[in-house]
Amino acid sequence: MKKSEVVKAWGSILAGRPPSLSIEITKECPLRCPGCYAFEAGHLGGGTKLKELSDFRGDDLVKNVLRVVDEQKPLHVSIVGGDPLVRYRELEQLLPQMVSRGVHTQVVTSAFRVIPPAWAQMPLVSVVVSIDGLQPEHDVRRAPATYERILKNIVDAKITIHSTITSQIASRPGYLQEFLEFWCARPQVNKVWFSLFTPQRGATDVEILSPEQRLEVMEELFRLRVLYPKLDMQERVIKEIATPPRNPKECIFARTTQTISADLTTQITPCQFGGDPDCSQCGCIASMGLAAVGHFPVVGSLTAGQIFLASDRVGRTWQKAKQALRPRPVKKVEAVAFPIINS
Ligand code: SF4
Ligand code: SF4
Repeated sequence: MKKSEVVKAWGSILAGRPPSLSIEITKECPLRCPGCYAFEAGHLGGGTKLKELSDFRGDDLVKNVLRVVDEQKPLHVSIVGGDPLVRYRELEQLLPQMVSRGVHTQVVTSAFRVIPPAWAQMPLVSVVVSIDGLQPEHDVRRAPATYERILKNIVDAKITIHSTITSQIASRPGYLQEFLEFWCARPQVNKVWFSLFTPQRGATDVEILSPEQRLEVMEELFRLRVLYPKLDMQERVIKEIATPPRNPKECIFARTTQTISADLTTQITPCQFGGDPDCSQCGCIASMGLAAVGHFPVVGSLTAGQIFLASDRVGRTWQKAKQALRPRPVKKVEAVAFPIINS
């Protein structure tokens, strides 16, 4: 994160607006990845599942996403799903509009279809492709977005690879190096990021890393970042694996990112995982990255994180006060005064 971006984000927090927005633009996905949190029962926090929400398509989707962006004024938007490439036609309209608004936009996809070459030329637009380990494991988990298909679909793209380290991966010596050897050699790959599998509280998934495995992964990443410059994880970010936030209130990422689902109304809390994530076992790259920024000393022992969190409290209070002072619309019986969504 650049200094100018930190200052802008701070201003946005003080104004009571989360600087980062994550939007699940569709509830559809051609994949059925095991452990996908978006389709888990508790993802939206209530009884409703992502598949049961109404979502938008075509011009309605473009118009309503831009409406949300214009209202929230985020500095950074992540477009996720389902798989956002299900709506690639809409994205072709949406992305130039995001660029014209000066908003950094990141599309997170499985690359099950071709990534339009024009996106590589757009300033402020980045594409993150999720890969679940080396080809044998990935192809089983992520068909039809197999290695073979991804390699064809990214030929003219510029991408960041994001991979989630599971217990199975952590237990195989040399696995991460082999992964980096493969992907860093591709000219289309600008960066590689790793997250660690983050469970829900009380979950017993086989993917969960033991405390020893978390430390081993940390040591391995310290070693690999020197060998593979495309591994875009600074030492202070990797160190955060050892001390994840204790709860969402301490998580700068969760506090500064608003996540909304496919109806563009439902909020996903406390972070993009939804449900009741186990922060003490978190390994999300975004959370670790912002925690590292947060631990940066600004003046004496005062850290950037302490300033961010205090500013967040000020900003939220300010927003509440503004809402309380706003004149209330006169209610009419026959119509809703300010409908949020036209479905
Ligand atoms: S591609 Fe993403 S949204 Fe689709 S099933 Fe896999 S993890 Fe879930
Ligand atoms: S990103 Fe991680 S630390 Fe932050 S709220 Fe979610 S699970 Fe907790």
